[in-house]
Amino acid sequence: SYRKGGYHAVRVGDSFAGGLYIAQRKLGWGQFSTVWLAYDTRSSKYVALKIQKSAPQFSQAAAHEIEVLSAITEGDPANVKCVVRLVDHFKHAGPNGQHPCMVLEFLGDSLLQLIKYNRYKGLELNRVREICKCILTGLDYLHRELGLIHTDLKLENILLYSTINPTKDPTRSGMTPILARPEGNPNGGATINIIEKKLKQRARRAVARISERRASMGGFAAPPKPSRRLDGIDLRCKVVDFGSACWADKLLAEEIQTRQYRAPEVILQSGYSFPADIWSFACIAFELATGEMMFTPKSGQGFSEDEDHLALMMELLGKMPRKIATSGARSKDYFDRYGDLKRIRRLKYRPLDRFLVDKFNFSDTDALEFAKFLCPLLDFEPDRRPTAQQCLQHPWLNVENLTQDEVKSASSVEKMSVGMTNLQIKVGKR
Ligand code: ADP
Ligand code: MG
Repeated sequence: SYRKGGYHAVRVGDSFAGGLYIAQRKLGWGQFSTVWLAYDTRSSKYVALKIQKSAPQFSQAAAHEIEVLSAITEGDPANVKCVVRLVDHFKHAGPNGQHPCMVLEFLGDSLLQLIKYNRYKGLELNRVREICKCILTGLDYLHRELGLIHTDLKLENILLYSTINPTKDPTRSGMTPILARPEGNPNGGATINIIEKKLKQRARRAVARISERRASMGGFAAPPKPSRRLDGIDLRCKVVDFGSACWADKLLAEEIQTRQYRAPEVILQSGYSFPADIWSFACIAFELATGEMMFTPKSGQGFSEDEDHLALMMELLGKMPRKIATSGARSKDYFDRYGDLKRIRRLKYRPLDRFLVDKFNFSDTDALEFAKFLCPLLDFEPDRRPTAQQCLQHPWLNVENLTQDEVKSASSVEKMSVGMTNLQIKVGKR
């Protein structure tokens, strides 16, 4: 991909925009871009530099992303809407072509990394609530104030901004920035060598600490520990990656969203809008609370990934109403005229709250309350899903406002399974 029209190769110490930004280290990459930590010599702050591939279709995509990011940043001068900010943008000429570059505020680890640090165990529900509020604040802003659909919400695209690992956050660790590489010295200047030496020293010390701990445990490897305790850290996050965002009145693509977070109306091609983001948001909330994706469809003998996906949805949420199942351009590929899947005939229904108790050891109360929050967001009928603004009002996100007695009485409501009004029990194996 590092050829004409592709990625721009960056080395530590490379300078951009006439020396304004200096590359420090790679933060991540996507299909279209690489993202670097850069030092902004004007503000003496760190920024994230997203460098796009140079071919015309990528430049066009970047122009669109810059337009979206500009609207987002302009609409939120107080920086309270939980969405990443665009600081600057320019073009960079390299051997592979002209690369559009976006300068973004520097954020921390993604929610995916957070779940990994937590060893895929799922976060405490109060943590999940905090994160959900941030994401919904961002979505409410995008949807209601800007008319934008994100279309690719997932854990990788939500970044923390108080990093879990402060040593990785140069702003907080007081790390000296790497300055521009002196011209004509491909191996970097003295500053780089000093930094590298320091990093190596730090790594050596960490290795020494680990072997010490092992030795103290009789030579056995210590059990892996979560890398950081989360207590007391104010978890705040922001929505990023507007590469595929679109204005609701100017839809771009027919197929949107990453598979596991894809809404049923997208699979059926019955038209999508803001509620598609709400669906993905519900998948994210589930994943944060359990450590596992809500839906991981796979194709099998005689059925496609799409069909498995629809089956998994119905097993958890009840049968899709016939009217909805048969309403999309692709409905006939999957459903018969009675609204039953053509090639997956037997479904193993298990309502969401039971699933949370059986598979993830939730208490009955926690499971029921969480399911009552999530199920309306996963309504098969997009127009019936609550808006982000309505989600923010839900009691599940505002439990701290309830007295203990109110919490008790709220949880003693009928022990019904949520969202299973269309349930028809069939037993069988797939
Ligand atoms: P793509 O559209 O190519 O997927 P993203 O905008 O998602 O690009 O960025 C790719 C990766 O770069 C992200 O998953 C993240 O690890 C990192 N990244 C992106 N923006 C930032 C930022 N503002 N601060 C820190 N890291 C970032
Ligand atoms: Mg991305």
